[in-house]
Amino acid sequence: MDRETPDWIRLDKALSIEAEKGFTDLQGNQYRFSEFLCLNFRQNPPPRTPNSDCTRWYDLANEYANYSQLSVLRRKILVFKTRQFIHQLRLILETSSEPPAPKLPRIVPVSEKQPSLENITLDKPLNTLPGLDQKKSESLKLLELYTVKDILFYYPRDHIDYARQISITNLNPGETVTIIGTVKRCNCFSSPKNKNLTIFELILRDNTGEIKLNRFFAGSRFNNRGWQERQKRFYPVGAIVAASGLVKQNKYGLTLDNPEIEVLDSLGDNIESLKIGRVLPVYPLTEGVPADLIRQTVITCLNSIKTIKDPLPISIRNEYGLIKLKDAINNIHFPENPELLAHARRRLVFDEFFYLQLGFLQRRQEQKLTQKSAIFIPQGQLIENFNELLPFALTNAQKRVINEILEDLTLETPMNRLVQGDVGAGKTIVAVFAILAALQSGYQAALMAPTEVLAEQHYRKLVSWFNLLHLPVELLTGSTKIGKRREIHRQLETGELPLLVGTHALIQDPVNFNRLGLVVIDEQHRFGVHQRAKLLAKGQSPHVLTMTATPIPRTLALTLHGDLDVSQIDELPPGRQPIQTTALTGKERTQAYDLIRREVAQGRQVYIIFPMIEESEKLDVRAAVEEHKKLSEIVFPDFTIGLLHGRMSSVEKDEVLTDFRDNKNQIIVSTTVIEVGVDVPNATVMLIENAERFGLSQLHQLRGRVGRGSHKSYCLLMSSSKTPDARQRLSVLEQSQDGFFISEMDLRFRGPGTVLGTRQSGLPDFALASLVEDQEVLELARTAAEKIIMADKNMQGISSLKQELEQRYQKLMGGEILT
Ligand code: ADP
Ligand code: MG
Repeated sequence: MDRETPDWIRLDKALSIEAEKGFTDLQGNQYRFSEFLCLNFRQNPPPRTPNSDCTRWYDLANEYANYSQLSVLRRKILVFKTRQFIHQLRLILETSSEPPAPKLPRIVPVSEKQPSLENITLDKPLNTLPGLDQKKSESLKLLELYTVKDILFYYPRDHIDYARQISITNLNPGETVTIIGTVKRCNCFSSPKNKNLTIFELILRDNTGEIKLNRFFAGSRFNNRGWQERQKRFYPVGAIVAASGLVKQNKYGLTLDNPEIEVLDSLGDNIESLKIGRVLPVYPLTEGVPADLIRQTVITCLNSIKTIKDPLPISIRNEYGLIKLKDAINNIHFPENPELLAHARRRLVFDEFFYLQLGFLQRRQEQKLTQKSAIFIPQGQLIENFNELLPFALTNAQKRVINEILEDLTLETPMNRLVQGDVGAGKTIVAVFAILAALQSGYQAALMAPTEVLAEQHYRKLVSWFNLLHLPVELLTGSTKIGKRREIHRQLETGELPLLVGTHALIQDPVNFNRLGLVVIDEQHRFGVHQRAKLLAKGQSPHVLTMTATPIPRTLALTLHGDLDVSQIDELPPGRQPIQTTALTGKERTQAYDLIRREVAQGRQVYIIFPMIEESEKLDVRAAVEEHKKLSEIVFPDFTIGLLHGRMSSVEKDEVLTDFRDNKNQIIVSTTVIEVGVDVPNATVMLIENAERFGLSQLHQLRGRVGRGSHKSYCLLMSSSKTPDARQRLSVLEQSQDGFFISEMDLRFRGPGTVLGTRQSGLPDFALASLVEDQEVLELARTAAEKIIMADKNMQGISSLKQELEQRYQKLMGGEILT
């Protein structure tokens, strides 16, 4: 083995054996698996190339140093990541060291293919361009492409890499390639089996071997001797041709099916085709818009590239290693080579993130400059008293977050903070500290929750604590009686009532506060922008604290809540027992039912959840109703079973949940409408049917309904799906109780939509950026945006940025998140 380069084969073998043996950190002859990898990553760096990432190489050494301390799941992920990394690195190194095949004829640059046009401006309508008749420009409108600028910013969704020119002997199935060779034989004939199919065959050879190219023509009009002979005459024996296509393997050997072919005069000739030998853009299409029309129009429009101004200051470009906008646009469409494509993509992804973050931060900045909130006293009598009364010690995470909040509250700029914390992390108590700070400073506070059940739960808890402090609290919901309601309104206006808990009723009622200084919103994503705004309008720039039990990965958090300060309670109170989580198949159902019987016999309670089965809620409801009937009559005839589904009114739902809380029902059967924050400490079993249909974060949320008391709790994930993917996803839950980790995995497995659930998506629509792959660029973009705002609060010095921001801001957000 060459001491300077990694031994790919041994590395790969070690990784695959470790995976086969179940990630046990296998002991080899000389080293353990992790030691072997650690040594390898420490001692044998790959040769440097512009593309290979050596820092990552050394990072891996450190990660493997800790391997033995990782859970099996984390080991699995690390091994998986490593294999991927090595595979990619090897590809880069080996393609760059591959001896060049015979020289490729000159590929005419796209710029030379442009019709020469003077004065083509970005806002020029497409139908005024040469070569674009009415019909063509109409079909481009189907994709909402009207002007030159629209087309230039219409990025390809993928590229086919025909730039790799390969000798015939080195072809591998599955690769896209370009080959240059001479025609050995050419044939064109009607298929003996099917008169409507005409086959064209070309045998091509270079000095390493030969390969057959096939083209197929369907239709009787090709079943014509004259036409077929003419095809053959295009490719006379001995002619030099360039061909690009996908290499396929069939029983006769390798072929290129339906390749692009161009005849060349000589080896040094130009390749004129817009496809052969290039990295070819593939655009998102719609019916009636041919791919080549977009390609050709892009080429024409690239004429105007000179007129594109780059709004990004050079200093930022230099600092973050970004190429010019012009070059990025050019190369995202027709990249000169794969490296430039990567640079183009990076620059444009940066832009997508950057303007969004800039928008968030600018909005925040404006708020700071224009709005003044009350300044609260962080240390005062109420907080001191409460600290003494607290029945438990706060976790370090709670203390940290409370401090962050109290610090915000001592400033006159309004707080706008989101507290994320797993179910049971203890968010309520953190909110109580903020509320007490408001109260002891002479202000009122309001706490709004999305449902009556949740509001009432908060109310009960707050009453128990506030009674000790001799402070009044009231609850206002849709079912508050009219007399009580009037009394509450009055007390709020006089200021006698310092804290009001409630549902939407808080904003619907003619509620007037005397001095509203703080608004707390639980499960904030369940409220619309307007509802939040309405509550805020009841005070004078009150401080705002929002809470959510749906932890989301940082990329999502930045993209959704980039204008909020985010605190995380990333630690559970001590003594919580992990919820024993087991994935079961249909055959193991009796085990599940036995466990349920045992638990109910001991006085415990059970949730059984059915997912969305059909698209229609009506059918879902029917499925739930039928299951409920079956469970009550056949499976558990001795128990009382409640039913909860989306077609019930909120009053009906609350009744069922209240019965459950009072232990009048031992089991509750529910569709996914079961509320996120429902807190019944006596419930110990969560059975989820068709678990593979849920996102992991959603399963984790549902699981959080149990394990809330002192009893050992169980989560049973029923699934009949045998796909490895489904099993692997469920095993994430079996092995982890960490909501952040789980949502990160969810993001990787199924993308942002499922992490957030339909209810709270509202992610901006990025053309290129991926929240899974581009985390690093997102962080850079955020940092860059922060620096800009810090240096120049109103961005007065950089009007180009400000303008671009305004344009993008409209488009990207559709006015949704940032309003
Ligand atoms: P969530 O973050 O899900 O809203 P809660 O605020 O409802 O969690 O808290 C869950 C339970 O844990 C409550 O009964 C609460 O009183 C209790 N709790 C909160 N913090 C602590 C702590 N530091 N030690 C022990 N129990 C705590
Ligand atoms: Mg809560």
